[in-house]
Amino acid sequence: MADADAATKDKTDEKTVRLQVAAARQEESGQGIARMPRSAFQALGITEGDVVEVTGKRSTAAIAMAAYSEDEALDVVRLDGLQRGNAEVGSGEHVKIARAESRPATRVVFAPAQREMRLQGPGQALKRNFFGKPLVAGDLVATTGQQPVQNMPPDVRQLLRTPAYALTQIRLSVVSTTPKGIVHIDENTEVELRAEFEEPRDARAVVNYDDVGGMGDTIQQLREMVELPLRYPELFTRLGVDPPKGVLLHGPPGTGKTRLAQAVANESDAEFFTINGPEIMGSGYGDSEKALREVFEQASKSAPAIIFIDEIDSIAPKRDRVPGEAEKRLVAQLLTLMDGLEARANLVVIAATNRPDAIDEALRRPGRFDREIVIGVPDEKGRREILSIHTRGMPLGDKVNLDELARVTHGFVGADIAALSREAAIEAVRRIMPKLDLDERTIPPEVLEELCVTREDFLSALKR
Ligand code: ADP
Repeated sequence: MADADAATKDKTDEKTVRLQVAAARQEESGQGIARMPRSAFQALGITEGDVVEVTGKRSTAAIAMAAYSEDEALDVVRLDGLQRGNAEVGSGEHVKIARAESRPATRVVFAPAQREMRLQGPGQALKRNFFGKPLVAGDLVATTGQQPVQNMPPDVRQLLRTPAYALTQIRLSVVSTTPKGIVHIDENTEVELRAEFEEPRDARAVVNYDDVGGMGDTIQQLREMVELPLRYPELFTRLGVDPPKGVLLHGPPGTGKTRLAQAVANESDAEFFTINGPEIMGSGYGDSEKALREVFEQASKSAPAIIFIDEIDSIAPKRDRVPGEAEKRLVAQLLTLMDGLEARANLVVIAATNRPDAIDEALRRPGRFDREIVIGVPDEKGRREILSIHTRGMPLGDKVNLDELARVTHGFVGADIAALSREAAIEAVRRIMPKLDLDERTIPPEVLEELCVTREDFLSALKR
Protein backbone atom coordinates (compact mmCIF):
# COMPACT_ATOMS: atom_id res chain seq x y z
CA MET A 1 0.00 0.00 0.00
CA ALA A 2 2.90 2.30 0.78
CA ASP A 3 3.86 2.21 -2.89
CA ALA A 4 0.41 3.21 -4.01
CA ASP A 5 0.43 6.11 -1.59
CA ALA A 6 3.76 7.28 -2.85
CA ALA A 7 2.44 7.14 -6.38
CA THR A 8 -0.61 9.22 -5.54
CA LYS A 9 1.54 11.71 -3.70
CA ASP A 10 3.85 11.99 -6.65
CA LYS A 11 0.92 12.70 -8.84
CA THR A 12 -0.43 15.48 -6.66
CA ASP A 13 2.99 17.05 -6.35
CA GLU A 14 3.33 17.09 -10.09
CA LYS A 15 2.93 20.60 -11.38
CA THR A 16 -0.15 21.18 -13.45
CA VAL A 17 -1.92 24.24 -14.70
CA ARG A 18 -5.58 24.60 -15.42
CA LEU A 19 -6.46 26.50 -18.58
CA GLN A 20 -9.61 27.26 -20.46
CA VAL A 21 -9.87 25.75 -23.91
CA ALA A 22 -10.24 27.97 -26.97
CA ALA A 23 -10.21 27.01 -30.62
CA ALA A 24 -6.93 26.97 -32.52
CA ARG A 25 -6.55 29.16 -35.55
CA GLN A 26 -7.85 27.61 -38.70
CA GLU A 27 -4.42 27.43 -40.37
CA GLU A 28 -2.86 25.64 -37.42
CA SER A 29 -5.50 22.96 -37.25
CA GLY A 30 -4.14 19.42 -37.35
CA GLN A 31 -0.64 20.26 -36.20
CA GLY A 32 -0.87 18.87 -32.68
CA ILE A 33 0.33 22.00 -30.90
CA ALA A 34 -1.07 23.63 -27.77
CA ARG A 35 -0.60 27.39 -27.51
CA MET A 36 -0.39 28.62 -23.93
CA PRO A 37 0.67 31.82 -22.12
CA ARG A 38 4.17 32.32 -20.75
CA SER A 39 2.90 32.00 -17.18
CA ALA A 40 1.95 28.38 -17.91
CA PHE A 41 5.43 27.64 -19.28
CA GLN A 42 6.94 29.05 -16.10
CA ALA A 43 4.58 27.16 -13.80
CA LEU A 44 5.35 23.88 -15.56
CA GLY A 45 9.06 24.57 -15.96
CA ILE A 46 9.01 23.88 -19.69
CA THR A 47 10.08 25.60 -22.87
CA GLU A 48 8.60 25.80 -26.34
CA GLY A 49 8.60 22.51 -28.16
CA ASP A 50 8.29 20.43 -25.00
CA VAL A 51 5.63 17.77 -24.74
CA VAL A 52 2.67 18.31 -22.43
CA GLU A 53 -0.17 16.09 -21.34
CA VAL A 54 -3.57 17.69 -21.86
CA THR A 55 -6.34 16.23 -19.76
CA GLY A 56 -10.06 16.83 -20.01
CA LYS A 57 -12.28 13.79 -19.64
CA ARG A 58 -9.48 11.97 -21.45
CA SER A 59 -5.74 12.57 -21.73
CA THR A 60 -3.81 13.34 -24.86
CA ALA A 61 -0.46 14.90 -25.68
CA ALA A 62 0.58 18.06 -27.49
CA ILE A 63 3.63 20.15 -28.22
CA ALA A 64 3.67 23.34 -26.19
CA MET A 65 3.97 26.59 -28.12
CA ALA A 66 3.82 30.21 -27.05
CA ALA A 67 0.45 31.94 -27.07
CA TYR A 68 -0.42 34.54 -29.66
CA SER A 69 0.34 37.96 -28.21
CA GLU A 70 -3.34 38.82 -27.84
CA ASP A 71 -3.83 35.70 -25.67
CA GLU A 72 -0.84 36.31 -23.45
CA ALA A 73 -2.87 37.77 -20.60
CA LEU A 74 -5.53 35.06 -20.73
CA ASP A 75 -5.51 31.67 -19.05
CA VAL A 76 -6.32 30.03 -22.31
CA VAL A 77 -4.92 27.08 -24.21
CA ARG A 78 -5.66 26.84 -27.91
CA LEU A 79 -6.49 23.37 -29.18
CA ASP A 80 -7.86 22.33 -32.54
CA GLY A 81 -10.97 20.24 -33.07
CA LEU A 82 -9.17 16.90 -33.13
CA GLN A 83 -7.29 17.74 -29.95
CA ARG A 84 -10.53 18.76 -28.24
CA GLY A 85 -11.90 15.39 -29.27
CA ASN A 86 -8.77 13.68 -27.97
CA ALA A 87 -9.03 15.42 -24.61
CA GLU A 88 -12.83 15.13 -24.67
CA VAL A 89 -13.53 18.77 -23.94
CA GLY A 90 -15.44 21.54 -25.60
CA SER A 91 -14.25 25.09 -26.16
CA GLY A 92 -14.85 27.09 -23.01
CA GLU A 93 -14.28 24.09 -20.75
CA HIS A 94 -11.10 23.59 -18.75
CA VAL A 95 -8.21 21.17 -19.13
CA LYS A 96 -5.31 20.27 -16.92
CA ILE A 97 -1.89 20.62 -18.48
CA ALA A 98 1.12 18.76 -17.12
CA ARG A 99 4.68 18.40 -18.22
CA ALA A 100 5.17 15.06 -19.92
CA GLU A 101 7.79 12.78 -21.39
CA SER A 102 7.36 11.15 -24.71
CA ARG A 103 9.06 7.80 -25.27
CA PRO A 104 10.24 6.50 -28.62
CA ALA A 105 7.80 3.92 -29.94
CA THR A 106 8.90 0.57 -31.26
CA ARG A 107 5.59 0.23 -33.06
CA VAL A 108 2.61 2.42 -33.96
CA VAL A 109 -0.52 1.22 -35.75
CA PHE A 110 -2.77 3.68 -37.60
CA ALA A 111 -6.14 3.16 -39.27
CA PRO A 112 -8.19 5.53 -41.42
CA ALA A 113 -10.81 7.38 -39.38
CA GLN A 114 -12.81 8.45 -42.40
CA ARG A 115 -14.95 5.90 -44.08
CA GLU A 116 -14.45 7.12 -47.63
CA MET A 117 -10.68 6.93 -47.42
CA ARG A 118 -9.04 4.01 -49.07
CA LEU A 119 -5.58 3.61 -47.68
CA GLN A 120 -2.92 1.10 -48.28
CA GLY A 121 0.77 0.70 -48.08
CA PRO A 122 3.75 0.47 -45.85
CA GLY A 123 3.10 3.59 -43.85
CA GLN A 124 6.49 5.02 -44.78
CA ALA A 125 4.98 8.37 -45.60
CA LEU A 126 3.00 8.37 -42.39
CA LYS A 127 6.20 7.82 -40.54
CA ARG A 128 7.58 11.01 -41.98
CA ASN A 129 4.37 12.89 -41.45
CA PHE A 130 4.17 12.10 -37.76
CA PHE A 131 7.88 11.92 -37.05
CA GLY A 132 8.65 13.16 -33.56
CA LYS A 133 5.07 14.14 -32.75
CA PRO A 134 3.64 12.95 -29.46
CA LEU A 135 0.93 10.32 -29.92
CA VAL A 136 -1.36 8.40 -27.58
CA ALA A 137 -3.27 5.25 -28.56
CA GLY A 138 -6.87 6.21 -29.24
CA ASP A 139 -5.95 9.68 -30.50
CA LEU A 140 -7.25 11.04 -33.76
CA VAL A 141 -4.61 12.69 -35.87
CA ALA A 142 -4.40 14.36 -39.26
CA THR A 143 -1.79 14.41 -41.98
CA THR A 144 -0.36 17.84 -42.70
CA GLY A 145 0.22 17.74 -46.42
CA GLN A 146 3.98 18.02 -46.41
CA GLN A 147 4.02 14.47 -47.68
CA PRO A 148 1.35 12.82 -49.73
CA VAL A 149 0.54 9.41 -48.37
CA GLN A 150 2.30 6.77 -50.32
CA ASN A 151 0.66 4.12 -52.43
CA MET A 152 -2.75 5.23 -51.41
CA PRO A 153 -5.02 4.27 -54.22
CA PRO A 154 -4.90 0.50 -54.62
CA ASP A 155 -4.69 0.97 -58.34
CA VAL A 156 -2.98 3.69 -60.31
CA ARG A 157 -5.92 3.99 -62.66
CA GLN A 158 -7.96 4.70 -59.61
CA LEU A 159 -5.72 7.68 -59.12
CA LEU A 160 -7.29 9.67 -61.90
CA ARG A 161 -10.73 9.03 -60.59
CA THR A 162 -9.87 9.78 -56.98
CA PRO A 163 -6.73 11.84 -57.19
CA ALA A 164 -7.63 14.15 -54.38
CA TYR A 165 -7.32 11.28 -51.93
CA ALA A 166 -3.59 11.56 -52.11
CA LEU A 167 -3.79 15.29 -51.76
CA THR A 168 -6.26 16.02 -49.02
CA GLN A 169 -5.86 15.90 -45.32
CA ILE A 170 -6.31 12.41 -43.99
CA ARG A 171 -7.59 11.71 -40.52
CA LEU A 172 -6.40 8.61 -38.79
CA SER A 173 -6.94 6.81 -35.51
CA VAL A 174 -3.89 5.76 -33.54
CA VAL A 175 -4.99 2.17 -32.97
CA SER A 176 -2.16 1.10 -30.71
CA THR A 177 1.36 1.98 -29.68
CA THR A 178 4.21 0.04 -28.11
CA PRO A 179 4.94 1.01 -25.40
CA LYS A 180 1.69 2.53 -24.19
CA GLY A 181 1.39 6.11 -22.95
CA ILE A 182 2.80 9.12 -24.77
CA VAL A 183 5.14 8.02 -27.54
CA HIS A 184 6.70 9.42 -30.69
CA ILE A 185 7.89 7.90 -33.91
CA ASP A 186 11.65 7.81 -34.54
CA GLU A 187 13.90 6.11 -37.12
CA ASN A 188 13.45 2.75 -35.47
CA THR A 189 9.70 2.79 -35.14
CA GLU A 190 7.76 0.24 -37.13
CA VAL A 191 4.69 2.00 -38.52
CA GLU A 192 1.72 0.02 -39.73
CA LEU A 193 -1.21 1.42 -41.63
CA ARG A 194 -4.28 -0.74 -41.49
CA ALA A 195 -6.38 -0.79 -44.60
CA GLU A 196 -9.73 -1.04 -42.81
CA PHE A 197 -11.60 1.93 -41.54
CA GLU A 198 -11.79 2.15 -37.81
CA GLU A 199 -14.79 3.89 -36.25
CA PRO A 200 -13.24 6.94 -34.60
CA ARG A 201 -13.63 7.30 -30.87
CA ASP A 202 -14.94 10.82 -31.30
CA ALA A 203 -17.09 12.15 -34.12
CA ARG A 204 -14.98 15.31 -34.26
CA ALA A 205 -12.65 13.21 -36.41
CA VAL A 206 -15.18 13.51 -39.19
CA VAL A 207 -16.28 17.14 -38.96
CA ASN A 208 -15.61 19.76 -36.33
CA TYR A 209 -15.62 23.55 -36.11
CA ASP A 210 -12.20 23.73 -37.79
CA ASP A 211 -13.82 22.33 -40.91
CA VAL A 212 -16.22 25.20 -41.47
CA GLY A 213 -14.64 28.37 -42.72
CA GLY A 214 -15.68 31.99 -42.69
CA MET A 215 -18.27 31.47 -40.00
CA GLY A 216 -16.68 32.75 -36.83
CA ASP A 217 -19.72 34.69 -35.61
CA THR A 218 -22.17 32.11 -36.81
CA ILE A 219 -20.42 29.34 -34.96
CA GLN A 220 -20.51 31.49 -31.85
CA GLN A 221 -24.24 32.10 -32.22
CA LEU A 222 -24.99 28.47 -32.86
CA ARG A 223 -22.84 27.37 -29.96
CA GLU A 224 -24.88 29.51 -27.63
CA MET A 225 -28.18 28.37 -29.07
CA VAL A 226 -27.40 24.69 -29.47
CA GLU A 227 -24.15 23.44 -28.01
CA LEU A 228 -24.48 25.03 -24.59
CA PRO A 229 -28.05 23.80 -23.96
CA LEU A 230 -27.11 20.31 -25.14
CA ARG A 231 -23.96 20.19 -23.08
CA TYR A 232 -25.29 21.83 -19.95
CA PRO A 233 -29.04 21.31 -19.80
CA GLU A 234 -28.92 21.97 -16.05
CA LEU A 235 -27.76 25.53 -16.73
CA PHE A 236 -31.02 26.27 -18.44
CA THR A 237 -33.15 24.46 -15.88
CA ARG A 238 -31.49 26.58 -13.21
CA LEU A 239 -32.20 29.79 -15.03
CA GLY A 240 -35.75 28.72 -15.70
CA VAL A 241 -35.47 29.47 -19.39
CA ASP A 242 -36.23 27.06 -22.14
CA PRO A 243 -33.47 26.37 -24.61
CA PRO A 244 -34.52 26.70 -28.25
CA LYS A 245 -36.11 23.67 -29.86
CA GLY A 246 -35.69 24.77 -33.43
CA VAL A 247 -33.15 26.84 -35.32
CA LEU A 248 -33.58 27.82 -38.94
CA LEU A 249 -30.45 28.30 -41.05
CA HIS A 250 -31.03 30.10 -44.26
CA GLY A 251 -28.68 30.87 -47.07
CA PRO A 252 -27.78 29.81 -50.61
CA PRO A 253 -26.87 26.19 -51.39
CA GLY A 254 -23.29 25.13 -50.79
CA THR A 255 -22.55 27.66 -48.06
CA GLY A 256 -21.90 24.97 -45.45
CA LYS A 257 -25.21 24.71 -43.61
CA THR A 258 -25.16 20.93 -43.47
CA ARG A 259 -21.53 20.81 -42.52
CA LEU A 260 -22.06 23.39 -39.79
CA ALA A 261 -24.99 21.47 -38.27
CA GLN A 262 -22.91 18.31 -38.25
CA ALA A 263 -19.97 20.11 -36.61
CA VAL A 264 -22.24 21.44 -33.88
CA ALA A 265 -23.58 17.96 -33.22
CA ASN A 266 -20.09 16.48 -33.05
CA GLU A 267 -18.72 19.23 -30.84
CA SER A 268 -21.71 18.87 -28.51
CA ASP A 269 -21.31 15.11 -28.25
CA ALA A 270 -24.79 14.80 -29.65
CA GLU A 271 -26.18 12.19 -32.00
CA PHE A 272 -26.86 13.53 -35.46
CA PHE A 273 -29.95 12.63 -37.48
CA THR A 274 -30.68 13.98 -40.93
CA ILE A 275 -33.92 14.30 -42.77
CA ASN A 276 -33.65 15.21 -46.39
CA GLY A 277 -36.73 17.17 -47.39
CA PRO A 278 -37.09 16.14 -51.02
CA GLU A 279 -36.24 12.53 -50.22
CA ILE A 280 -38.84 12.16 -47.54
CA MET A 281 -41.43 13.75 -49.80
CA GLY A 282 -40.83 11.03 -52.33
CA SER A 283 -42.12 8.26 -50.09
CA GLY A 284 -45.56 6.77 -50.59
CA TYR A 285 -48.91 7.65 -49.04
CA GLY A 286 -48.56 8.12 -45.30
CA ASP A 287 -44.97 6.93 -45.38
CA SER A 288 -43.45 10.41 -45.25
CA GLU A 289 -45.22 11.19 -41.98
CA LYS A 290 -44.22 7.86 -40.56
CA ALA A 291 -40.59 8.41 -41.53
CA LEU A 292 -40.66 11.83 -39.90
CA ARG A 293 -42.16 10.43 -36.68
CA GLU A 294 -39.59 7.66 -36.58
CA VAL A 295 -36.65 10.02 -36.80
CA PHE A 296 -38.04 12.17 -33.98
CA GLU A 297 -38.65 9.06 -31.89
CA GLN A 298 -35.17 7.68 -32.50
CA ALA A 299 -33.57 11.03 -31.77
CA SER A 300 -35.51 11.46 -28.51
CA LYS A 301 -34.25 8.06 -27.40
CA SER A 302 -30.65 8.97 -28.29
CA ALA A 303 -30.63 12.45 -26.71
CA PRO A 304 -28.61 14.58 -26.57
CA ALA A 305 -29.33 14.75 -30.26
CA ILE A 306 -29.67 17.10 -33.19
CA ILE A 307 -32.11 16.50 -36.00
CA PHE A 308 -31.06 18.26 -39.17
CA ILE A 309 -33.79 18.87 -41.73
CA ASP A 310 -32.27 19.80 -45.06
CA GLU A 311 -34.42 21.74 -47.52
CA ILE A 312 -37.26 22.11 -45.07
CA ASP A 313 -39.14 24.18 -47.64
CA SER A 314 -39.95 21.00 -49.52
CA ILE A 315 -41.52 19.38 -46.42
CA ALA A 316 -43.19 22.44 -45.05
CA PRO A 317 -44.24 24.79 -47.83
CA LYS A 318 -46.90 27.37 -47.11
CA ARG A 319 -50.06 25.36 -46.69
CA ASP A 320 -52.25 27.67 -48.69
CA ARG A 321 -49.93 27.29 -51.66
CA VAL A 322 -49.75 23.51 -51.82
CA PRO A 323 -52.07 21.57 -54.01
CA GLY A 324 -52.31 18.22 -52.26
CA GLU A 325 -53.66 16.95 -48.97
CA ALA A 326 -50.52 14.86 -48.47
CA GLU A 327 -48.30 17.93 -48.31
CA LYS A 328 -50.66 19.64 -45.89
CA ARG A 329 -50.63 16.62 -43.63
CA LEU A 330 -46.85 16.49 -43.61
CA VAL A 331 -46.61 20.12 -42.50
CA ALA A 332 -49.15 19.39 -39.77
CA GLN A 333 -47.19 16.34 -38.69
CA LEU A 334 -43.99 18.34 -38.39
CA LEU A 335 -45.79 20.98 -36.30
CA THR A 336 -47.19 18.30 -34.01
CA LEU A 337 -43.75 16.75 -33.59
CA MET A 338 -42.17 20.10 -32.78
CA ASP A 339 -44.90 20.91 -30.27
CA GLY A 340 -44.58 17.47 -28.76
CA LEU A 341 -40.90 17.96 -28.01
CA GLU A 342 -40.28 18.75 -24.42
CA ALA A 343 -38.36 21.96 -24.04
CA ARG A 344 -35.76 20.18 -21.97
CA ALA A 345 -35.63 16.98 -23.96
CA ASN A 346 -32.04 17.75 -24.92
CA LEU A 347 -32.95 17.65 -28.54
CA VAL A 348 -32.61 20.46 -31.05
CA VAL A 349 -33.96 20.54 -34.55
CA ILE A 350 -31.88 22.51 -37.03
CA ALA A 351 -33.50 23.15 -40.38
CA ALA A 352 -31.94 24.56 -43.49
CA THR A 353 -33.51 26.32 -46.41
CA ASN A 354 -32.51 28.67 -49.17
CA ARG A 355 -36.08 29.90 -49.47
CA PRO A 356 -37.10 31.09 -46.02
CA ASP A 357 -40.14 32.85 -47.46
CA ALA A 358 -41.46 29.63 -48.89
CA ILE A 359 -42.00 27.83 -45.60
CA ASP A 360 -45.22 27.74 -43.64
CA GLU A 361 -45.38 30.66 -41.20
CA ALA A 362 -46.72 28.43 -38.44
CA LEU A 363 -43.32 26.77 -38.27
CA ARG A 364 -41.66 29.98 -37.22
CA ARG A 365 -43.87 30.66 -34.21
CA PRO A 366 -42.42 30.60 -30.69
CA GLY A 367 -41.53 27.13 -29.48
CA ARG A 368 -40.92 25.93 -33.03
CA PHE A 369 -38.25 27.36 -35.33
CA ASP A 370 -38.07 30.61 -33.45
CA ARG A 371 -34.37 31.31 -34.00
CA GLU A 372 -32.87 32.15 -37.33
CA ILE A 373 -29.35 32.41 -38.55
CA VAL A 374 -28.45 33.75 -41.96
CA ILE A 375 -25.57 31.99 -43.67
CA GLY A 376 -24.39 34.26 -46.42
CA VAL A 377 -22.01 33.91 -49.32
CA PRO A 378 -18.51 34.21 -47.82
CA ASP A 379 -16.50 37.42 -48.16
CA GLU A 380 -12.79 37.48 -49.05
CA LYS A 381 -11.67 36.69 -45.53
CA GLY A 382 -14.18 33.84 -45.36
CA ARG A 383 -13.02 32.47 -48.69
CA ARG A 384 -9.43 32.60 -47.45
CA GLU A 385 -10.41 30.46 -44.47
CA ILE A 386 -12.35 28.00 -46.58
CA LEU A 387 -9.41 27.75 -49.00
CA SER A 388 -7.08 26.97 -46.13
CA ILE A 389 -9.43 24.19 -45.02
CA HIS A 390 -9.63 22.55 -48.40
CA THR A 391 -5.91 22.79 -49.11
CA ARG A 392 -4.90 21.73 -45.61
CA GLY A 393 -3.67 18.33 -46.65
CA MET A 394 -2.16 19.35 -49.97
CA PRO A 395 1.50 19.76 -50.69
CA LEU A 396 1.32 23.25 -52.19
CA GLY A 397 3.81 24.82 -54.59
CA ASP A 398 5.81 27.83 -53.42
CA LYS A 399 3.91 30.26 -55.58
CA VAL A 400 0.47 29.26 -54.33
CA ASN A 401 -0.92 32.30 -52.59
CA LEU A 402 -4.21 31.70 -50.81
CA ASP A 403 -4.77 35.44 -50.37
CA GLU A 404 -4.62 35.87 -54.10
CA LEU A 405 -6.99 32.94 -54.66
CA ALA A 406 -9.40 34.37 -52.11
CA ARG A 407 -9.35 37.66 -53.99
CA VAL A 408 -10.11 36.20 -57.39
CA THR A 409 -12.91 33.87 -56.27
CA HIS A 410 -15.49 36.55 -55.63
CA GLY A 411 -18.97 35.01 -55.51
CA PHE A 412 -17.72 31.50 -54.75
CA VAL A 413 -19.50 29.63 -51.94
CA GLY A 414 -17.81 26.93 -49.86
CA ALA A 415 -18.89 24.15 -52.19
CA ASP A 416 -17.35 26.02 -55.14
CA ILE A 417 -14.07 26.42 -53.27
CA ALA A 418 -14.05 22.74 -52.37
CA ALA A 419 -14.60 21.91 -56.04
CA LEU A 420 -11.85 24.31 -57.12
CA SER A 421 -9.35 22.71 -54.75
CA ARG A 422 -10.30 19.27 -55.97
CA GLU A 423 -9.91 20.35 -59.58
CA ALA A 424 -6.50 21.87 -58.87
CA ALA A 425 -5.42 18.55 -57.32
CA ILE A 426 -6.61 16.72 -60.41
CA GLU A 427 -4.50 19.06 -62.54
CA ALA A 428 -1.48 18.17 -60.43
CA VAL A 429 -2.11 14.47 -60.87
CA ARG A 430 -2.54 14.88 -64.63
CA ARG A 431 0.91 16.39 -64.72
CA ILE A 432 2.54 13.33 -63.18
CA MET A 433 0.48 10.80 -65.12
CA PRO A 434 3.05 10.48 -67.94
CA LYS A 435 5.64 9.44 -65.38
CA LEU A 436 3.55 6.56 -64.13
CA ASP A 437 3.77 3.04 -65.31
CA LEU A 438 0.12 2.11 -65.37
CA ASP A 439 0.86 -1.56 -64.91
CA GLU A 440 2.63 -0.90 -61.66
CA ARG A 441 0.22 -1.02 -58.80
CA THR A 442 2.12 1.43 -56.69
CA ILE A 443 3.44 4.91 -57.31
CA PRO A 444 7.22 5.32 -57.19
CA PRO A 445 8.16 7.41 -54.15
CA GLU A 446 10.20 9.87 -56.20
CA VAL A 447 7.18 10.64 -58.36
CA LEU A 448 5.00 11.01 -55.33
CA GLU A 449 7.52 13.32 -53.81
CA GLU A 450 7.26 15.62 -56.80
CA LEU A 451 3.49 15.68 -56.58
CA CYS A 452 2.46 19.13 -55.53
CA VAL A 453 -0.36 21.47 -56.41
CA THR A 454 0.92 24.65 -58.04
CA ARG A 455 -0.44 28.13 -58.63
CA GLU A 456 -0.89 27.20 -62.30
CA ASP A 457 -3.00 24.19 -61.28
CA PHE A 458 -5.32 26.51 -59.42
CA LEU A 459 -5.45 28.96 -62.30
CA SER A 460 -6.27 26.19 -64.79
CA ALA A 461 -8.91 24.87 -62.41
CA LEU A 462 -10.40 28.36 -62.20
CA LYS A 463 -10.82 28.44 -65.96
CA ARG A 464 -12.91 25.28 -65.97
P1 ADP B 1 -25.29 23.50 -47.75
O1 ADP B 1 -25.84 22.59 -46.72
O2 ADP B 1 -25.29 24.95 -47.32
O3 ADP B 1 -25.89 23.33 -49.11
P2 ADP B 1 -22.95 21.91 -47.46
O4 ADP B 1 -22.67 21.98 -46.02
O5 ADP B 1 -23.63 20.67 -47.94
O6 ADP B 1 -23.75 23.18 -47.94
O7 ADP B 1 -21.57 22.13 -48.26
C1 ADP B 1 -21.16 21.29 -49.32
C2 ADP B 1 -19.66 21.13 -49.31
O8 ADP B 1 -19.04 22.38 -49.61
C3 ADP B 1 -19.11 20.76 -47.95
O9 ADP B 1 -19.04 19.38 -47.79
C4 ADP B 1 -17.73 21.39 -47.96
O10 ADP B 1 -16.82 20.57 -48.64
C5 ADP B 1 -17.94 22.63 -48.77
N1 ADP B 1 -18.24 23.81 -47.93
C6 ADP B 1 -19.37 24.56 -48.00
N2 ADP B 1 -19.32 25.59 -47.14
C7 ADP B 1 -18.15 25.49 -46.48
C8 ADP B 1 -17.52 26.25 -45.46
N3 ADP B 1 -18.11 27.35 -44.93
N4 ADP B 1 -16.30 25.85 -45.01
C9 ADP B 1 -15.71 24.77 -45.54
N5 ADP B 1 -16.25 24.01 -46.50
C10 ADP B 1 -17.46 24.35 -47.00
